[in-house]
Amino acid sequence: MIEVKNLTHRYGDRVALSNVSFEVKKGEIFGLLGPNGGGKSTLFRILSTMMVPASGAAVIAGHDVEREPAAVRRSVGVVFQTQSLDKALTVEENLRAQGHLHGLSGADLRDRMERAMERLGLADRRKDLVETLSGGLRRRVEIAKALLHRPQVLLMDEASSGLDPAARRDLSRHVESLRENDGVTILLTTHILEEAGRCDRLILLHQGSIVAHGTPAELRARIGGDVVVLEVADTQAMAAAIEQRFHVHPSVMDGQLRVEIKDGHRFITEVVEAFPGSIDSVGLHKPTLEDVFVHETGASIA
Ligand code: ADP
Ligand code: MG
Repeated sequence: MIEVKNLTHRYGDRVALSNVSFEVKKGEIFGLLGPNGGGKSTLFRILSTMMVPASGAAVIAGHDVEREPAAVRRSVGVVFQTQSLDKALTVEENLRAQGHLHGLSGADLRDRMERAMERLGLADRRKDLVETLSGGLRRRVEIAKALLHRPQVLLMDEASSGLDPAARRDLSRHVESLRENDGVTILLTTHILEEAGRCDRLILLHQGSIVAHGTPAELRARIGGDVVVLEVADTQAMAAAIEQRFHVHPSVMDGQLRVEIKDGHRFITEVVEAFPGSIDSVGLHKPTLEDVFVHETGASIA
């Protein structure tokens, strides 16, 4: 449904996207995960035909973004990071105005509005002014708006940023139901691990390049074992001492040491016994997407 081939983009001489390729299948919820400046919005702008790539190509629903932007725009619904609603209007009025922009009216527009409000759980809020709605509800109105012309693909840039975890989960459930009930293909960008973990597949973007791709489980499985995090006074000295003694390579991040290791619980006992008094705290966890990102780039997402 979405095919991206060797996309590269620069702003002046700053490379924002470098040779990015991936495919999204029909009905997938596909995530672009990466830290600020990773290139997510750049890719998003190219896919939504706001911007033409320096090189490479992207095809959505059979249409090339550069050569057939109008056809692409008919096939995609777009939710931007910045809000686009008129806060002084009601939910319904916002949707109607958007429908008119698409040349929709009468019974057809009413049907589409009903359907969109129902899908996004907005039917009982239709008469409410947008300015009275919570952040989560506003995002749902944005999505309803993006769906009025019945696109096959929904593109969302950081749709859940600024929402609390409960509102984020709720948004994910609605997105999931769009896929289930209407077969909409969804591509979203995020820097929030939890949201990325709910995608079917994702790519990790760092400084404009794909550093890893796969399902969340596949990505986590790249780290064979557990992750042990140690807080110590002198990270460099301890990293060297641990490396020499245990033949593992700890990474130093934010005043902590991270060690990827099988049977982490055993390592914890051994390392604490090996350096009595030098370790302030110890933690163990199963690999997260953040760990995968650190593993691939040496940098953190947050
Ligand atoms: P993300 O959405 O992942 O935070 P962006 O695509 O916005 O990343 O940015 C990728 C890189 O391109 C960053 O280094 C950013 O500073 C740069 N960039 C983004 N937009 C512009 C712009 N309009 N002009 C110049 N540089 C930009
Ligand atoms: Mg962005």
